[in-house]
Amino acid sequence: MEGTRNLFGLDRAGLEAAMTELDEPAYRARQMYVWLYRRRVRDLAAMTDLGKGLRARLESGFEVRWPEVAARDVSRDGTIKYLFQLDDGATIESVFIPEERRRTICISTQAGCPLKCAFCLTGIAGYKRNLKPWEILGQVATVMDEAPRAGVWGADSAPQLNERARDSLPRERKTKPWNVVVMGMGEPLLNYEATVHALRVLMDPDGFAVAPKKLTLSTVGILPALEKLMAEPVRPNLAISLHAPEPGLRRQLMPIEEKYRLEDVIAAAQRYPIPRGGRVTYEYVLLKGVNDSTTHARQLARRLRGSRAKVNLIPLNAASEIPFEAPTVEAVDAFAGILAAAHVTVSVRRPRGQDILAACGQLHLRDAPGGASGSRASAQ
Ligand code: SF4
Repeated sequence: MEGTRNLFGLDRAGLEAAMTELDEPAYRARQMYVWLYRRRVRDLAAMTDLGKGLRARLESGFEVRWPEVAARDVSRDGTIKYLFQLDDGATIESVFIPEERRRTICISTQAGCPLKCAFCLTGIAGYKRNLKPWEILGQVATVMDEAPRAGVWGADSAPQLNERARDSLPRERKTKPWNVVVMGMGEPLLNYEATVHALRVLMDPDGFAVAPKKLTLSTVGILPALEKLMAEPVRPNLAISLHAPEPGLRRQLMPIEEKYRLEDVIAAAQRYPIPRGGRVTYEYVLLKGVNDSTTHARQLARRLRGSRAKVNLIPLNAASEIPFEAPTVEAVDAFAGILAAAHVTVSVRRPRGQDILAACGQLHLRDAPGGASGSRASAQ
């Protein structure tokens, strides 16, 4: 609404400042915080414990707004890709991934990405701007709000509890746990302030209450920002986008290697404070004939052997705009086998949502103004 200020996205200090402006005590900010993030209520009139007078004043000058969903693509496996259209027309993607024991949301922190990794559609499409905290948090709120009921403990999935007992459970125990991965469009550590602001609200027990061990931030390794993140009192898990076992090849695939060298990034990641027994994840997109040979696997194993590392192999989701091909199943197996034999923990990411536009940035390319087809998928 024209002239109104969005309360969604403000942290505790921001809400306190808004309440002070209205001559309201600080505890009103705490109440508001719970309505906005734990209960995810968008209707100011429904925030019943704020009192009628305050609600009326809030309604005249403030609003609670999440980013607009422009399109949803639903896969046969239940994966849902969201395209959000922001106020200035920029578009971003998020993904909901349902799994047996958990539900994962992948979110974006920038509209586009300036880093231009050669295998990444988001990088190929270019960079528009950093997202604001409300635009980052709004992706999580939207996906959580719309998550299919199948993800919630129903009569069949919690049969030992009668309805009354289930209703009395705290919200997080009624549902499968949420994982949030900051692995969508953009490099989160290039948008440090807004990203960390959003992470704090996500991990706050009075906010979205996502456990820090269920939250993972993925970065190419922007070293000054990574050092800052290490000093945060509460931190997410760390994933490093590696994609090559040696600097020369990494430079060809990821121009950022010129600035932040692979050796330095791995050294910093290994200092990242994680709980005892925890590991830093190294993401490695396998590109046929480029970085997927047994020699590359052995180089990677040598580099990571003996460190607190696990490797997540990601066979490329090929797309016509990406100048690389997906690896063969045999190459993926051989690569994983060499890492495992060297006692490096390894997993292969199962392809999800292959019947929809699965590569990150594809939906944005298709549906952005001036995008590949210019067509828009149905918004509902
Ligand atoms: S892989 Fe990540 S860092 Fe590289 S261009 Fe894509 S979004 Fe940016």
